[in-house]
Amino acid sequence: MLEIRHLSKSFGSHEVLRDIDFTVNKGDVTSIIGSSGSGKSTLLRCINLLETPTSGEILYHGQSVTGPKVNAPEYRSHVGMVFQSFNLFNNMTVLENCVVGQVKVLKKDRETARKNAMQYLEQVGMAPYINAKPRQISGGQKQRVAIARALAMEPEVLLFDEPTSALDPEMVGEVLSVMQDLARAGMTMLVVTHEMAFARDVSSHVVYMNQGIICEEGTPEQIFGDPQRQETKDFLSRFR
Ligand code: ADP
Ligand code: MG
Repeated sequence: MLEIRHLSKSFGSHEVLRDIDFTVNKGDVTSIIGSSGSGKSTLLRCINLLETPTSGEILYHGQSVTGPKVNAPEYRSHVGMVFQSFNLFNNMTVLENCVVGQVKVLKKDRETARKNAMQYLEQVGMAPYINAKPRQISGGQKQRVAIARALAMEPEVLLFDEPTSALDPEMVGEVLSVMQDLARAGMTMLVVTHEMAFARDVSSHVVYMNQGIICEEGTPEQIFGDPQRQETKDFLSRFR
């Protein structure tokens, strides 16, 4: 579904990603782990076309999306993203947050978009809050709305950039549980996370990034049970 080929990204002379290669197949749940500053967010932002790679390419169903003439909003409706800081529209209600993209990008009529949004808000347990503004709900609730908003675009792949890192500890579980349900339902997901239990128990693949490269990747059993590289062992030992 997605192929990342020889992707590199520099900011000035600082090479943040170096020759990243990996593939995402339908139904994969890939966790990307690694220390702060290793380039995880930049990688997701490149995949979502929020950053332009310095070299290399990204293919979506075999078509390059890193060349010119790509309709980024349209592509992002297929490859959605959930951010650490939610990025909800604060002046809109919960429901409106989940409607606006469908109307503007997918050109759906408002009534169809509302019905669709309601279905996903129910799925994440946020239907009782449709008329609330983001400032009136908790962080965990905001993130569940952000997930519903992404789902309402009916994406093929969802990218999550540390979706629970900005949350108070007691709210982490409700968001992880929504993500676990999505994974079980077969959603293709790419998740940057420090939640090692999620990476180990929910994902099908784990990618360990260190200093802008993929240092090691494999199944959760391989990465958590039998890491090969010293860097991977050192990183994981910090979570025990
Ligand atoms: P991670 O998500 O793994 O913590 P990031 O992708 O956010 O890592 O950042 C990797 C490196 O790239 C960091 O050194 C960061 O300072 C740098 N970086 C990220 N975005 C920018 C930017 N827009 N301009 C300059 N440097 C950046
Ligand atoms: Mg990051």
